[in-house]
Amino acid sequence: MKKISNLLIGTNNKGKFREIRALLPKYIKIYSTSDFNIKSPIENGKTFEDNSIIKSKYFSRMTGLPCLADDSGLEIDILNKAPGIYSARWGGKNSDFKKAINKVYRELNKKDKNWKNRKIKARFICALSISYFEKKIACVSAKIEGIISAEPKGENGFGYDPIFIPKGKKLTFGEISPILKYKIDHRYKAFKKIKKFL
Ligand code: IMP
Repeated sequence: MKKISNLLIGTNNKGKFREIRALLPKYIKIYSTSDFNIKSPIENGKTFEDNSIIKSKYFSRMTGLPCLADDSGLEIDILNKAPGIYSARWGGKNSDFKKAINKVYRELNKKDKNWKNRKIKARFICALSISYFEKKIACVSAKIEGIISAEPKGENGFGYDPIFIPKGKKLTFGEISPILKYKIDHRYKAFKKIKKFL
């Protein structure tokens, strides 16, 4: 199969862009959606995979480039897997991550006043896809298990990083150095599965 030499990273989320760029081999010329000034499509799929493919096809069509897109989010077991595919939307119109984190704490308090004394199981999920115009080249997904921190900690990363403690660690993704996070998280695990298609 011909190697991809030009690739668009189909996301308007700066945190994701940084992380995906760090994973890609150096011989690929990388483009971002800000090079083209394109808004994100409406994500009306029912799963992370559906939404990832919606994005990779849409951004490929808009630019004429092969596109790698991510759809990801946080599932919290006692919230019936919310926010799930709505993870970005919990931040409101301006994708305010503080607002999204406050909503998580509000929902946890509603569910169980004593939640801080329990292990609140959660996981990050990432679906990555590559499309070229309407053709889906690949779609994979992966997850990382963990628990919700009783309070937000750390300034690194983006989104729900300050409240997620990966299994086996004591620090949140907001406290861990980005270089370490990139080597263990849901996006990295999905990337390992999709890299043979690049
Ligand atoms: P979407 O895939 O663009 O719909 O948005 C996914 C949302 O999930 C992000 O805006 C973040 O709030 C959250 N998210 C996904 N991956 C991560 C991560 O690695 N760290 C923190 N939050 C994440």
